[in-house]
Amino acid sequence: MSRETGLRIPQVYRFVLSNARVPTELVAEPPPGASRDAEGALLLDLLVDDGRIAALFPAGTAPETARRVDLEGRHLWPAFIDMHTHLDCGHAIPRVRPDGTIHGGFSLTAEDWPRWTDEDLDLRMEFGVRCAHAHGVSALRSHVDSETLAYSQRHWRALDRLRAKWAGKVDLQGVTICAMEAWIGPEARALADLAADMGGILGGVTDTLDRGENGTYDALGQALDRLFALAGERELDVDLHVDQTEDLSAFTIPEIAKARLRSGFRGRVVLGHCVNLSLMPPEVIDRTLVLAREADLAFVSMPTPMMYLMDRKPGRTPRWRGVTAAKEIRAAGLPLAIGGDNCRDAWFAYGDHDMLDTLKQAIRVFQADEPLTGSLAMASRVPADLIGRPDLGRIGANLPANLVIFQARSLNVILARDQADRIVLKNGRQVTDPLPQHHELEAALGLLDTAS
Ligand SMILES: [Zn+2]
Repeated sequence: MSRETGLRIPQVYRFVLSNARVPTELVAEPPPGASRDAEGALLLDLLVDDGRIAALFPAGTAPETARRVDLEGRHLWPAFIDMHTHLDCGHAIPRVRPDGTIHGGFSLTAEDWPRWTDEDLDLRMEFGVRCAHAHGVSALRSHVDSETLAYSQRHWRALDRLRAKWAGKVDLQGVTICAMEAWIGPEARALADLAADMGGILGGVTDTLDRGENGTYDALGQALDRLFALAGERELDVDLHVDQTEDLSAFTIPEIAKARLRSGFRGRVVLGHCVNLSLMPPEVIDRTLVLAREADLAFVSMPTPMMYLMDRKPGRTPRWRGVTAAKEIRAAGLPLAIGGDNCRDAWFAYGDHDMLDTLKQAIRVFQADEPLTGSLAMASRVPADLIGRPDLGRIGANLPANLVIFQARSLNVILARDQADRIVLKNGRQVTDPLPQHHELEAALGLLDTAS
């Protein structure tokens, strides 16, 4: 970010960020005596020492022994977590031209696979990570296209190279994405081993598996049983793509909950999308969420691409926002995170890996501003817990100083303006890398329009 902010973050190991305004829900343990503003933000001083937050103090009370930067009431948040991305598909425009439909997403991605060489993957995936880093995202989970073992190996190796290269800047974790049939197919064990070897976890797409002749989900049940068994043997979490459809007959949350309960699986189970849940009658939503709580399921919603994809009909304005039953999920006490999802690819034409933008979209689309407090953690604290990183996504003593400082002095202004002049700190050091330029990527990929 390059706009002048009037703030200088010292390049020293120990300094105090004083008079910061931090939303209470993003603070691990508020220090006694800290005052709160009208929007529920705490007024704090942070002592940063050797890349970590050494201690929190009520504003104006940090010891005078370290360099001091007066934030003058600016908002300070923990760095964002994007727990649902698709780095390997991303930034393929203009060679891929999405048609705005799920079906088009599948077929255009499959047409693009032969172009996914090592070099191509490295260029496009790193572009995505550079965007996220500049916007203040400290960890990313990416669904690795794993339709066949042969393709999968190339995609996982690309993520592994990126993970090694970006260690200490953006933490990367992979998860398999494949049709659920793969988990009852001959390559199931090899796919699970590959994900485990690469530090990843297991997933799949549940709503595309056809029902049997008797109308039941027997095959899905078998695939889920196998998936939970393979994940359990390897002590891996599970993260599924679920019910990304307006078809009410393709409703798999209850099948997943029942499979998890009978499996005895002890890891985390996250369900992504679940958009047709919001179209169900209220009693079905209630019943489903009771079952989900019993099965200890968590949810992640991707509001931006879902608004783009769902309820798209030629010549007709969409009538439905395309997102899950967010308020009901949260009211049921179940974790709900948000993710950026696809970015400039066959599924979603836009995006910039900016989780603040995703949070703003979520708050508007879910109407999650009544009250606003409680909603902010969807982009940091909740996803950090769901990816098994309780040291991230919050501000607290002895946690990494991965921070975002805004010019804004109120939540309203954060949500009103783009905050392109935010300052990002990673391990206490200011991130000075600029946002990467799209035309440079296009030149590297051989996609520049020479007529322009
Ligand atoms: Zn996805």
